[in-house]
Amino acid sequence: MREVQVGVGDRSCSVASGGPALPLSRPLTAPSSFHVMAKPTGAICNLDCRYCFYLDKKSLYPGDSFRMPEDVLENYLRQTLESQTAPVVTLAWQGGEPTLIGLPFFRRAVVMADGLVREGQRVEHSLQTNATLLTREWAEFLAEHDFLVGVSLDGPRALHDAYRVDKRGAPSFDKVMRGLGHLHEHNVRYNLLCTVHGANEAHPLEVYRFFRDECGAQFIQFIPIVERDGTESDDRSDKVTGRSVTPEGWGRFLIAVFEEWLSHDIGAVFVQSFDAALASWLHLPATICVFAETCGNAVALEHNGDVYSCDHFVESEHLLGNISETHLIELVSSPIQRRFGEAKRDSLPRSCLKCDVRFACNGECPKNRFVTTPEGEEGLNYLCAGYRDFFHHIDGSMRLMADLLRAKRPASDVGSIFAKAPRNKPCPCGSGAKAKRCHGS
Ligand code: SF4
Ligand code: SF4
Repeated sequence: MREVQVGVGDRSCSVASGGPALPLSRPLTAPSSFHVMAKPTGAICNLDCRYCFYLDKKSLYPGDSFRMPEDVLENYLRQTLESQTAPVVTLAWQGGEPTLIGLPFFRRAVVMADGLVREGQRVEHSLQTNATLLTREWAEFLAEHDFLVGVSLDGPRALHDAYRVDKRGAPSFDKVMRGLGHLHEHNVRYNLLCTVHGANEAHPLEVYRFFRDECGAQFIQFIPIVERDGTESDDRSDKVTGRSVTPEGWGRFLIAVFEEWLSHDIGAVFVQSFDAALASWLHLPATICVFAETCGNAVALEHNGDVYSCDHFVESEHLLGNISETHLIELVSSPIQRRFGEAKRDSLPRSCLKCDVRFACNGECPKNRFVTTPEGEEGLNYLCAGYRDFFHHIDGSMRLMADLLRAKRPASDVGSIFAKAPRNKPCPCGSGAKAKRCHGS
C-alpha cells in the first residue's frame, strides 16, 4: 500500500493506493487506447425508462449498496491513467444514473484524477445522464471542470415521455429540460443522445428540428432501440417488442434527418452517425465501435470494480475480472477480450461479406445480429434493411463530401455543388433524379 499526495487549490487529500500494479511490460495484445464506461452507481437509476436494457443488471449484485467505494475509484483512475498511451485520457461516467452518487463523489474523483495524471497526460471527463437531477450547483461544477455531458432526450414532450418515465410512471420531460437549462446557463458542453424507438421513429424531422431549434443542440447522437422479446429458452427467436424501432423505420429516420442536415446544417450541427459514415467514405478508421470491423476496446466497469466486455454484454459469461485483483490493461488485453472483439468480424454471415456497404456498416453491433439471412444463415443484423437503405441513400453525397475534404475544402461546400448543377441533368448526389427535382431544387 503506498500513499499518493494529490492537491488542487485548497482541496488536498491523500489517496490510499492499493490494488494490482501495472505489469512490467505492456501486454503485446494491449490496444493503444481503449474506453471504459464507469458506473459509480451500477444499474441504479431514478427513472424507469421502459426500454432500458441496464436496469435488470441489478440482479447481478443482490443486496449490494451500488456505490463505488473509494478504493475502487482510486484503482480505476490510477489503472486507467497508467494504461492509456494517448496524451488525452477521457474518464467516462455512466449508469444507471451516475449523478445519484452525489456531487461530493465527483469532486473527489476530479481531485484524485488530477493527482494521478502522468506527465504529458491530460484528463477529460464525460458524463452520460438523464439530466433530471442536475442543479445549478452541478452545472457550476461541470463547467468548472469542462465536463462533456451527454443528455438523454428522445424528442419533444410527447415523444420523450412515451417511454422515459420515473419509477411511478410519471413523465420526465420537464425535469430533463430544467437540467438542460442549467447546462445552457453555465455554458457546459453537452450533446443530446436520442434513442429511436416505436414511438418516435415516424417523426424524424419533429425530433431533429426540436433539438436544433428549441434546444440549440450542436451535437446529436441517434441510437436504435432493439429490444428482444421472448424468454431465455426462446432466445433464438427474432421477435422484438413493440417499443423497438423497425429496421425500415430506422433507415427512414436516418435518411430524413440526413436530408434536413444536408440542406441546412452541415458544418453547424454534428450528427454522430453522419460523421462516422463520412470517416468510412474517407477510408479512415471507424469512429464508433458499432461500425468498426472489430470491437472490444470499450469495456464496462461496474461499481464494485468488475469489468465486462462491453456495456451491452454485462453478463456473467462476459465478466473479465475485477480491477482489485487484475490490472485493467491485463483485462482489456486478455485473450478472451481480444476474441470478443474479433468475433464481430469473424462471425459475419455471407450476406454481410458480399454486401456493398460493408465498409461502412460491418454488420453493426453483434447484440443486434439475431435474424436469419434469406439464404437461411443465422447472425444477420436485425437493422440490416435500414442500414442498407441509409448507406445506399447517402452514397453519392458522401462521395462528394469525401472528395471535398481530400481537396482540403470543407464538406459544407457540397451545397454549392448542388446549387450549380444544371437543372435538367442528373443530380450530383447520384439519386438518378434530375437536379431540379432533387438537391438542385
Ligand atoms: S458489442 Fe456492440 S456496443 Fe459493444 S463494443 Fe462491440 S460493437 Fe460496440
Ligand atoms: S447492411 Fe446488412 S448485409 Fe450489409 S453489412 Fe450491414 S448488416 Fe451486413
